This record gives sequence, structure tokens and C-alpha cells, in this order.
Amino acid sequence: MLCNYFRMPEGPSIIILKEAVQSFIGKKIKLAEGNTKIDLSRLNNKTIKDFKSWGKHFLICFNGFTVRIHFLMFGSYAINEKKDRPPRLSFQFTKGEINFYTCSVKIIDGDINEVYDWSSDVMNNDWDPKKALEKLKCSTNLLVCDALLDQNIFAGVGNIIKNEVLFRIRVHPKSIVDKMPAAKIKLLIKDAVDYSFEFLKWKKKFELRKHWLAYNKKICPRCNIPLVKEHLGKTNRRSFFCDNCQKLYS
Ligand SMILES: [Zn+2]
Repeated sequence: MLCNYFRMPEGPSIIILKEAVQSFIGKKIKLAEGNTKIDLSRLNNKTIKDFKSWGKHFLICFNGFTVRIHFLMFGSYAINEKKDRPPRLSFQFTKGEINFYTCSVKIIDGDINEVYDWSSDVMNNDWDPKKALEKLKCSTNLLVCDALLDQNIFAGVGNIIKNEVLFRIRVHPKSIVDKMPAAKIKLLIKDAVDYSFEFLKWKKKFELRKHWLAYNKKICPRCNIPLVKEHLGKTNRRSFFCDNCQKLYS
């Protein structure tokens, strides 16, 4: 039994879900239901071939098509149990069930490998840091806080990872990427991956919050002065940073 509320899940939380449902691979769906608009009749009696993830997308693979789940702001799931509200999508198996709530559901026809570029997912085996570097080098006037949240460059990175990485590598969120030294850009790419895997490890142990250095924090642990909290960038997401020890490249 596993029940998990997400709040704007980042890549590592989707990996945890993927690991939790592995036992349903090869199992046939006896009944698919829910208040989603997709054609549920396509799913009845279909066998789940695989579960994949791309960044914050959770992918349920069948022969010839894939169901994409995006948990948006307040999505959640329940495995082998139900919540007290109607599921957006529910799979009943001979033994067991998977239920998804408050999420976006979409069917993607065709070969999923042709739809997704796995090399842009920071937690995928095919992640390619050189491609990320190329994309960042091509940017002009891109704020680093926007760069990290750009799913075409760093699929899976969300607001927690963004804040923690920038704090760890001592880069101010309002820095312009093409004004940053090359070594710093490489460190940014490396730490986006490193922190994502640490996030995964800590989240599994229910101790993620304990390790936050800047996200949701009030005091800089390096300088012992107040952190600044501002809504920054194209996405206007919350940024926590230290004006003293995070360098502004502009
Ligand atoms: Zn500081």
C-alpha cells in the first residue's frame, strides 16, 4: 500500500512512483475508469508493457500507445487503495489497483521513443550533459533561474532543485547564463543532476526537508544573514537566495 500526495512533483518523485508500480508490468487491466476525457475503452484488457518517465511526466506504455500522466499542481496517486474522491484515472487488475487524482491524462499514439528526447531528462540513463551545455551556450539573456526550470534543457528539475542547486554552486538566480564562466555553467549542469539524485535518496528516507539549505529557509547557513525571497523569472516562481554569497553574473 502506498499513498502519496504530490505538490508540484519534481523528477525524483516521479522515479519513486515508477519504482512503486513495477509489479504491474505485464499485468492486464481488467477495468479502466475515471473522470478523464480520454477514451477509456482503449485501455480495457490491455497489458501494461512498461512504465517510463520523462522529467515530470509519468508514462504508462502499451502496445502502440502510451498514457501520459502529468500531476500539475496538486496531483496524487494511490496504489492498492482508494481515496475518498473520484479518481481521474483508475486501473483495476485481477489483483491490485492504481488510482490517479487531480492530474492531466493524455494518450500519445505511436512510438514513445520518437516523442521524447530522453537525453534531456536529468535522471535518465541517456541524459547528455553536452547537449544541455549546447542549449545553454545558444541562449541569450536567459536568467539562470529560468534555465534550470526549462524542461527542454533540464527535464525533471523543479523549483526545489532550482533553489538548492543555485545556492550550492553560489550563483545568484538573476544571473545571465551567457555571462557566467564556462566552468560555472558546467558545474550548474553537473549539480542539477547530482542534487536530483540526492533528492531521490533523501525523499525515499522521508528526510528531504531536513537537507534544504535555501528552499523555504529564512537564514543563509553560510553567512548567517537573512535570505532574500522573491518571485523571479518568466515562471514567477519563488526564489530563495543570499545576496552575499551567491554571485550575480550580469
Ligand atoms: Zn550567504
